[in-house]
Amino acid sequence: MPEGDAIFRTARTLHRALAGHEVVKFQSVLPALTRVHEDAPITGRTVESVSAAGKHLLMRFSGDLILRTHMRMNGSWHIYRADEQWRRPRRDMRVLVATREFQAIGFNLPVAQFLHARDLNRQDDLRFLGPDLLGSSFDSAEAVRRFRERPDSPIADALINQRIVAGAGNVYKSEVLFLCGINPLVPVGSLSDDELTKILQTAQRYLRVNVDAPKGGNVTYRGYRKTTSRRDQGDGLYVYGRARLPCRKCGTPIEVSAQGPNARLTYWCPSCQKR
Ligand SMILES: [Zn+2]
Repeated sequence: MPEGDAIFRTARTLHRALAGHEVVKFQSVLPALTRVHEDAPITGRTVESVSAAGKHLLMRFSGDLILRTHMRMNGSWHIYRADEQWRRPRRDMRVLVATREFQAIGFNLPVAQFLHARDLNRQDDLRFLGPDLLGSSFDSAEAVRRFRERPDSPIADALINQRIVAGAGNVYKSEVLFLCGINPLVPVGSLSDDELTKILQTAQRYLRVNVDAPKGGNVTYRGYRKTTSRRDQGDGLYVYGRARLPCRKCGTPIEVSAQGPNARLTYWCPSCQKR
């Protein structure tokens, strides 16, 4: 699943390219979207803003219309100049929003719907979203309070529960817990407020670093991110994706297990993460 930093970067890139510009072309293969477009055309509207809310991407158009998309595992938004070749096949296109200068293309989006502002507040997965690690004001105390509502949940599951805290996904989960020296399997209830706060601050710090990292090309969502200070891209992470390889700090083989309802993989060092 794309993590909060990737969604945030995507939203920022789309915002810079599209905001303030008129839509000259709209296409979709999704009937729920084309129906709206036929009744109240998207072309002729202005893109007001593109923003991230947790892992949701919200594209606001003039005339009170919001395109909400969620990328889940395989979806992505790309932005291209009008004459540029796409890097994904046309059959994967779900939504296209073009201004005179740019085309924003949503590929394989599993969730895409038009909403009015008043509907947005009724969306359960937005309404119940926890404090956003990449939000301009992150409410750490509120996130700790939400952690406390789930004392039996392993910290690894709780950290990616978007109703507790929004923005972290599977990669950050493993990396942040390694950086904090906390075993991913320990229940939330066994951790102190200070430990939970440290986990949140670490997650926030690394997500922000990766949001600000330089990026190239036009593909706005890329899986690449790093938490180590190493230069080589292959050395970017401490534990994620490194099952059985030696820990970068102590040499112990990294362990992996499938956790949670979707059997997401969790990686950790049994020596460095004893707590
Ligand atoms: Zn280690």
